[in-house]
Amino acid sequence: MLIKSIKKVKNLKNKTVLLRVDFNIPLKNGRVKEDYKLRQSLDTINYLRSKGAKVVLLSHLGRPKKRENKLSLKPVAKYLTNLLDVEVEFSPEIVGQKVKQSISKMKEGNLMLLDNIRFLPGEKKNSKVLAKQLAALADIYVNDAFAVSHRGEASVDAIKSYLPAYAGLLLEEELNNLFTSLQPRKPLIAVIGGAKVESKIKLLEKLIKSADFVILGGALANTFLLAQGFKVGKSLVDDKALAWTKKFMTKKIVQKKLILPIDVLVLNGGKKQLREINKIKKTDIILDIGPETIANFCFYIKKAKTIIWNGPMGKFEDKRFKQGTLSVARQIAISSTKNAFSLVGGGETVEALSSLEISKNITWISTGGGAMLQFLAGEKMPGLEKIVKI
Ligand code: ADP
Ligand code: MG
Repeated sequence: MLIKSIKKVKNLKNKTVLLRVDFNIPLKNGRVKEDYKLRQSLDTINYLRSKGAKVVLLSHLGRPKKRENKLSLKPVAKYLTNLLDVEVEFSPEIVGQKVKQSISKMKEGNLMLLDNIRFLPGEKKNSKVLAKQLAALADIYVNDAFAVSHRGEASVDAIKSYLPAYAGLLLEEELNNLFTSLQPRKPLIAVIGGAKVESKIKLLEKLIKSADFVILGGALANTFLLAQGFKVGKSLVDDKALAWTKKFMTKKIVQKKLILPIDVLVLNGGKKQLREINKIKKTDIILDIGPETIANFCFYIKKAKTIIWNGPMGKFEDKRFKQGTLSVARQIAISSTKNAFSLVGGGETVEALSSLEISKNITWISTGGGAMLQFLAGEKMPGLEKIVKI
């Protein structure tokens, strides 16, 4: 894989760099609630500053259709100022003369954060006009926002037609780790859970070929159990994907490699119960994998030299049903300390990890949920075109 890294640019002194970051973080009453993504962006910011660049930061926040005060990035500028111990100027204007003028006053190493790019309707539309307006602000464009790199949006896609484009340090690290999982040391074990089958069809089709075993848990597994003829009671299933699932399961390779739950925890009449998979009642709701399943999944994970995990094994947000997810997380972390490479990603999956100290041993926690699924499935990544060659 060839990455056009920002490290390859020889002279950044006095260059204005438009740095697309992922500052899509939770805010509450104008305060930063969680600063993990901000901290992850510091390496690239500090690198650019150390090389004498002027850094203009650009991000989205939430899903606004127009300017919305509560989705302004202003509080983030203040927070970053404290984090970096250097003033981060904030510009409510995102494009145009006024912001251009402010940028022209910036000095080497100075920082400016523009407001939420999704305030401008051209962003979602991948507008060339907006891309040109953004390009007019800088000399170089750097993408460090993997989480939006699967989207065709002006600040990650169209912009690259108008400025020389490079990968930031975080994006580069993300890509190197993703690439390692695509050239895996064997055995490769994939663990896929979560809610919807539909969003993971392409990934499953790919993994069933490349992995030695594909382990399924979470509500996603319900659809497969149903397709296999088991009863799942009132559990969540993905009806839209049932036909695909049935067809998928007729394949020999799938029968050989797919590992499904053998026991589950269900909710019935408000009570948690353990059930074997062939004894699910009409009124049961499957909400976690059971202890035998955990042991079986861990048996496979222990053998792996490479592990890819996306999607919780149950409704972990409910304390009664977090055990499956946390046990799998723990085993992946332990295997990682014993020389296995592990890649974990997904919004809720990463959230589930946050309560586990041991998860710091996981080799790479992806900075993108949907973007990781799309990349691993080999789908188009508009934000990476011109920056990465696989
Ligand atoms: P990620 O964001 O990590 O990619 P998904 O979005 O695919 O994961 O799915 C996460 C959601 O799936 C979680 O909110 C979790 O509660 C839900 N989930 C997992 N297993 C079940 C289940 N058996 N029943 C209902 N919801 C489930
Ligand atoms: Mg999710």
